[in-house]
Amino acid sequence: MFIKDIFSSKKPVLSFEVFPPKQDSGLDAVFSAAEEMSHLPIDYMSVTYGAGGSNAKNTARIASYLNDNLSVPSLAHLTCAANTKEDISNKITEYKNLGIENILALRGDKPKDYEGELFPGYKYASELVTAIKEHGDFCVGGACYPECHPNSPNIDTDINNLKIKVDAGVDFLVTQMFFDNDQFYNFRDKLAKKGINVPITAGIMPLTNANQIQRMAILSGGASMPAKFVRMISKYQDNPEALKQAGIAYAVDQIIDLISNDINGIHLYTMNKPETARKIVTVINSLF
Ligand code: FAD
Repeated sequence: MFIKDIFSSKKPVLSFEVFPPKQDSGLDAVFSAAEEMSHLPIDYMSVTYGAGGSNAKNTARIASYLNDNLSVPSLAHLTCAANTKEDISNKITEYKNLGIENILALRGDKPKDYEGELFPGYKYASELVTAIKEHGDFCVGGACYPECHPNSPNIDTDINNLKIKVDAGVDFLVTQMFFDNDQFYNFRDKLAKKGINVPITAGIMPLTNANQIQRMAILSGGASMPAKFVRMISKYQDNPEALKQAGIAYAVDQIIDLISNDINGIHLYTMNKPETARKIVTVINSLF
């Protein structure tokens, strides 16, 4: 099923993200986490792609498992980084042969310890979108950054580049994680003014442990942390259970506000953790 059709038929759409294991031996744990999450009222699940790493091959395996064994529409990620045009063409053919219909087209970043040419095929995600659309009938998603992509000099330039990507054939957008909803609302207004009208789903990362804090700051590319979020972290960072509960409550609060403001979708960065997904969705299941 095309994810763009899910966006046309319901609002808000709910999705989760899983990531492939570093070793094949970890695959069963991912399958079982996905299976647990599939019992929640979700519309699709996305599977990240680790460019150049050993886990790249498992994105397709997990995405087809979601489709075939769990009947959950999958969104398989794919990056330009560390891939030649031929690698990408082969990967798209593999996705197609496995019945994967939805691809999140990404530029990617330098993989750890990778020393080859970083973008030997396509330099920007917009070029990958064109390549995927030329290859077959796929529904294609793209990433966007409410607080500007770190490589862009300013948000207006970043949005101009985003417009090129959407015009290349992006059917829906998934945001980088953010903790301040006002940043998202300002961004959404700017996209509307620019004529970017595809559905936008909001990426929410629930904070569930103190070790995650530094990683979140890096992954989010420096997303603003509102004072109340910072106060919550400093109050509970030495109390793991309280931090987990407060982090989940913060994410729930963000989601309620986003849905009240007519968001197209919520994408939870669930990090292969069914418990977090379940806790969040159980409290607000009638909102979806
Ligand atoms: P692009 O859209 O290509 O943009 C990258 C930069 O180039 C931006 O600054 C943009 O303004 C600029 N730019 C774009 N087009 C042009 C142009 N024509 N001329 C000049 N400048 C231009 N990474 C992974 O490795 N694996 C994953 O699975 C993964 N999943 C992700 C999921 C989401 C929802 C998000 C938000 C990010 C994900 N990432 C993933 C990280 C992503 O690969 C990085 O953030 C990367 O730095 C940018 O990717 P992009 O697709 O947004 O790039």
